[in-house]
Amino acid sequence: MNSRDPNAHRATPHSKRGATPITLGTTPPDKRDTTPPVALGATPPSKRGATPPVQGATSRAARSTPPAGNPRVTPAPPTPTIRDATSPTGRNVTSYHAPLAWIGDAVAEDVLIEVIDGRFASVTPGVARPPANAQRLPGLAMPGLANAHSHAFHRALRGQAEQGHGTFWTWRQQMYEVAAQLNPDSYFALARAVYAEMALAGVTCVGEFHYLHHDADGQRYGEPNAMGLALLAAAQEVGIRITLLDTLYLTSSVEGAPLEGPQRRFGDGDVDGWSARVADLRADVHAKIGAALHSVRAVPAEQIAAFASRVEGTPTHVHLSEQRAENEACRRVHGCSPTALLADRGLLGPWVTAVHATHLDDTDRGELGDSNTAVCFCPTTERDLADGLGPARPLFDAGSPLCLGSDSHAVIDLFEEARTLELHERLRTERRGNFAADELVDAATVRGHAALGWNDAGRIAVGSRADLVCVALDTPRTAGCSPDAIVFAAGAPDIRLVIADGQVIVRDGEHVTIGDVGDALRRAIWPVSTSRAPDAGARATRVIPALDNEVTTEEIEPGSGERRSGERGPRKRRPKSGGSAPGEPTRAVKP
Ligand SMILES: [Zn+2]
Repeated sequence: MNSRDPNAHRATPHSKRGATPITLGTTPPDKRDTTPPVALGATPPSKRGATPPVQGATSRAARSTPPAGNPRVTPAPPTPTIRDATSPTGRNVTSYHAPLAWIGDAVAEDVLIEVIDGRFASVTPGVARPPANAQRLPGLAMPGLANAHSHAFHRALRGQAEQGHGTFWTWRQQMYEVAAQLNPDSYFALARAVYAEMALAGVTCVGEFHYLHHDADGQRYGEPNAMGLALLAAAQEVGIRITLLDTLYLTSSVEGAPLEGPQRRFGDGDVDGWSARVADLRADVHAKIGAALHSVRAVPAEQIAAFASRVEGTPTHVHLSEQRAENEACRRVHGCSPTALLADRGLLGPWVTAVHATHLDDTDRGELGDSNTAVCFCPTTERDLADGLGPARPLFDAGSPLCLGSDSHAVIDLFEEARTLELHERLRTERRGNFAADELVDAATVRGHAALGWNDAGRIAVGSRADLVCVALDTPRTAGCSPDAIVFAAGAPDIRLVIADGQVIVRDGEHVTIGDVGDALRRAIWPVSTSRAPDAGARATRVIPALDNEVTTEEIEPGSGERRSGERGPRKRRPKSGGSAPGEPTRAVKP
């Protein structure tokens, strides 16, 4: 695709929407949901006999220590009454039968699920003899997972930025080097591959915190939203929903220093410039346009108030107190914490999600909870960047709904994020059982969707969007586990089938349209990587256990899955530096 033709990425036609700077698009009926029922293919049914008996739909997941209630959290909309199917004639109906399904806050058995036009039309537990046309769902059927905080391009740093010393700030410099490489073409390719990885992990909706707006010199593209449109198109191609959190980013420090170097492409000058650009974005049926304020480092205090007045009611996210240095600078310049500054400027409320919220005092927690501001934890990134441990349970008890994001994508696995929320809380408090399994599932599903403006998703319930994530219960990770507690055991590789808005996007653990996601990632990352390492993925080497002092390798052509050649020979001693010895074949064999 020609980088000078950014319109090629447009997910929707250009559309002026009048004077309203930001309007959360309404969600029209999903046009993607009109195709005939899709067979599930060769997915073998899960072995019912191997599954321990579970309680009925009304039982709660077991919890080791019942945590305190959270009466101040805005209650989730009630699950619609489960009813028998009454399918309107002439509608496109797909029937599924789930031996086990996560309904409400527990696992139910023998659930007959009917989907009409991409939404659940009926959800009926206890149907031991489903109709012949019902397609059997493998393993445990769960609601679609929501990844509420993503910077797609950070995925290019995985396996390259984790080693060595440094801090969040030195990591950020590496991230900026990748950011400097991207254009609408490469951004689209990378986001497409990353969103496909998310789909394999059961993510049916992503919140993309997007600030890479302009070209490397900070100049607008011919299509000012070329980069954002690339993200919308990438999600559409992968088959997941997206909330584009278009980000206001104006300064490089709390003191108001101007953007420099790679940061220049983040900036729109002021709130008016940002607002005028975003007003031209139009959401297609798979997308919503939300807003973000990067942080108190990136927006002057007076502009925060102007921003807040324009986004009220729109899903709005903000990085908050991820680093102590941000808190210290804010106190030095404004005489208060970042949370207090946002509260003073009107940027807290149920439509706002604070991302990280790591270094808070009691007053901060009270401000966030009293305003029902949601908080998005990103545990695998926070541990990777040595951010610290945020007060998850106290925030929840204070009134903040919690959701989850994979942020820098050091890991893309919402089960890992969910259980780490609890495990980090154990490290912080030296106490187990802070969150029950159903609360962790809530954070990964319905709360994440709500933080992104999709209040009609994240549940297997009548009227909700028909997202289903089927987790195998017979893998080395999940075998023998109680389905009620699967969040503590399962990982992305255990997901066999993913349905988003009624459409199968992952079958038998493979993306149905993208195909080889690993190869798509490799091809997208290599052109923008700043690593000096060779493109190791271009020639995968599998090590076969050696006999005596022999070693055998197979070379696999990426994407082919076929053996290309073999090699046998005496083991060569590797130099201590880890590099190849002189004369050693470039096909290095790992000892
Ligand atoms: Zn972030």
